[in-house]
Amino acid sequence: MTINEEEWLRDIEKRVSVDFFKTLSEASLEELHYVFSREALGLLKNNWTNTMHHWNKQKAKMAYYFSAEFLMGRWLSNALINMGVYEEAGEAAQKLGINMNALEEAEADAGLGNGGLGRLAACFLDSLATGDYPSMGYGIRYRYGMFEQKIVNGYQVEKPDNWLEHGDVASIHRPDEAVEVKFWGRVAIEKGKDNHNYFHLYDYESVIAVPYDLPVPGYNTKTVVTLRLWEAVSPDGFDLDLFQAGEYSRAVAKEIQAENISRVLYPNDNTVGGKQLRLRQQYFFVSAGMTDLIRRFKKQWGKDFSKLPDAVAIQLNDTHPVVAIPELMRILVDEEHLNWDSAWQICIRTFAYTNHTLLAEALEKWPINIFAPLLPRIYQIIEEINRRFLHYLHQIFPGDWQRHKEMEIISDGVIKMAWLAIVGSHSINGVAELHTNLLKTQELRLWYELFPDKFNNKTNGVTQRRWLLKANPALSEFITKRIGDAWIKDLNEISKLEAYAEDPTAQREFLAIKAKDKQILAEYIARHNNIKINTSSIFDVQIKRLHEYKRQLLNALHIIYLYQRLKADPNYSIVPRTFIFGAKAASGYHQAKLIIRLINAIADVVNNDPVVSNKIKVVFMENYRVSLAEKIFPAADVSEQISTAGYEASGTGNMKFMMNGAITLGTLDGANVEILELVGHENAFIFGLTAEEVNQHKMSYNPQQLLAHDAELSAVVEALHDPIFATENIHMFEPIYQSLLFGVDGNPPDKYMVLKDFRPYLSANKKLEQAYLDEKKWAKMALINIARSGKFSSDRTIKQYADEIWHIKPNPQK
Ligand SMILES: *Cc1c(COP(=O)(O)O)cnc(C)c1O
Repeated sequence: MTINEEEWLRDIEKRVSVDFFKTLSEASLEELHYVFSREALGLLKNNWTNTMHHWNKQKAKMAYYFSAEFLMGRWLSNALINMGVYEEAGEAAQKLGINMNALEEAEADAGLGNGGLGRLAACFLDSLATGDYPSMGYGIRYRYGMFEQKIVNGYQVEKPDNWLEHGDVASIHRPDEAVEVKFWGRVAIEKGKDNHNYFHLYDYESVIAVPYDLPVPGYNTKTVVTLRLWEAVSPDGFDLDLFQAGEYSRAVAKEIQAENISRVLYPNDNTVGGKQLRLRQQYFFVSAGMTDLIRRFKKQWGKDFSKLPDAVAIQLNDTHPVVAIPELMRILVDEEHLNWDSAWQICIRTFAYTNHTLLAEALEKWPINIFAPLLPRIYQIIEEINRRFLHYLHQIFPGDWQRHKEMEIISDGVIKMAWLAIVGSHSINGVAELHTNLLKTQELRLWYELFPDKFNNKTNGVTQRRWLLKANPALSEFITKRIGDAWIKDLNEISKLEAYAEDPTAQREFLAIKAKDKQILAEYIARHNNIKINTSSIFDVQIKRLHEYKRQLLNALHIIYLYQRLKADPNYSIVPRTFIFGAKAASGYHQAKLIIRLINAIADVVNNDPVVSNKIKVVFMENYRVSLAEKIFPAADVSEQISTAGYEASGTGNMKFMMNGAITLGTLDGANVEILELVGHENAFIFGLTAEEVNQHKMSYNPQQLLAHDAELSAVVEALHDPIFATENIHMFEPIYQSLLFGVDGNPPDKYMVLKDFRPYLSANKKLEQAYLDEKKWAKMALINIARSGKFSSDRTIKQYADEIWHIKPNPQK
């Protein structure tokens, strides 16, 4: 694709005039960004409509990715790169006296997700489009996405994320394709003309789902995949009678209630609260999506629903969209009048479920008293699924009551969404080898025994187009100069870079690029944090959601240890290091928020102490999000992946670091295990308990005993009461102290074994320091990591989903 610069410039000027009544020089950056984006949309318009027409005409089997979260980040530059016109667009912008970088910075992130799970969905869309797979995403158009984080006096403060403030830059509003979604009401049985009984919902409340389509262009292909996000609106607006009676606020109450459904993303990562509004969000987008895809199916295949599993594959991203299973049953049985058994076989063959976690608090369970009144017919269908499933279980394991009890979909007053997902799908996948094995042997053991053939692994991946090509242009050029540019579409090609791992010129050049990337980040940190950092120090980075299992606390305690050592002995030898953190904590997760406060307390002490501040620095970067991540990964030397083994399902941040030449300092958890398999112990710093050992220690572990034998570690933990850190009062970090030594909220002491892994972490850190001193060796390690990162492209992950679960094939336009 190319752009005609003259035409482009003329269009931009015209759009500014028509849309904003301004001249180019009067327009704000946001307005210019808006018109550039709409111009880019115009560029892909034909490919986009042709993509759908082509797949429709061919009756290509489609994969639908249902996800409550899509953490897309910025759109414009990514779209321009994939269309191959980034440079030209930049030159055109220059002609208008606008810097492309400034234009990019004017775009708000589409932060419609919490973290890894949502970002995975976004990477998958990029890979689906680039791989020409007939596919589409369905989600929710949250009016406010992941909150904006401010740090005030060391504390996290949440602000609403008003990402649409300057307009929706890239999507198309399609009110003509709106659909109705029904809540509440009562179910009645009626005899049809054929003398069969049919179920009807009466006295329900309608909400209208209006789609907004966001195009995701593939790299160097005509394929453009659609992400369809649904917005909730009231069917009849405000109540005119009430309005005329002067009751203004009551007149709009109904409208507001309907619109609340898509108002805001729940900022919980790996936990769920049983809030009714969350269930409304789930059913809202799922029902809208199902109606939409069934409508599309019928246009192609009429009413022959036996064809549905050959025409449609639906992937459920975690349990959030699992009500899709009873919803499809409702459509097939109540609306299309199929018998239960045929409908159920169609369901199982259509759905596939991805499990993302081993954390008990993340498993969705809906109390019947919330679920049943809101979705009465769906509840009946789940009861019937459960009844038939238990009947089946009695036949397979007669008399094994304990097993039956544990596998019931509805029990103890709750509906277990993961169980429903497993029963109603033909595929259940974990997201890394270790995670899938733990599912089979632990959390889902009984299910694996019942349905061994349903279980499979799909190790996560990330798109190299955003996380390497776009985020790190200098390193990308370094790679392309040596091995050509095929890696952009086939990351296996990057293995060719290994031939340069020991090449002195390549090593020198790599180190120079890393130094430059560090310089750029240092300037950002100087501007935003007002901290001057040493760019030849080790950039040691831990960026991810704040969660106790991810153990930012272990990292923090290590810094306290270094501080104490340096204070006790100013000649203590240490390689200068800058500890960089970025993390949002769920707004109700007090322990996580207190850990943010602790990191900021440590930063205040360390950065302002002349004895230590030229050796170590601590930076907490505000408002971690996709666009900030793109600035940090390229500058990292060390990738902190230090979760308690057995708790991080996969991780994807670890993969982005690897591609950017950072060395993993990590535990044997999630995909770290697969990174280690590829690079070996000589190219990663692996430490700590294994998942198996974590399990073995669970019963016997006693952190107090451990501290009694380790004076240094004891001093580190006691620092939580030290007024040097605890500046407000010495008890401010008491809940952290308590959780380490005694356990809080019914948890065992040091549930995540921070103290148990402390010494091994220290040793790994020492080894890392030594390795960093040898520049050439470090460069070689980094180049080997990059060269062996091919497996972690989401292109590979998507190909496995397509081949092994969805059975769909690439289908590009000619
Ligand atoms: C990749 C990514 C994540 C996931 O990071 P993990 O280290 O795998 O938990 C979370 N948030 C953002 C913004 C990301 O880009």
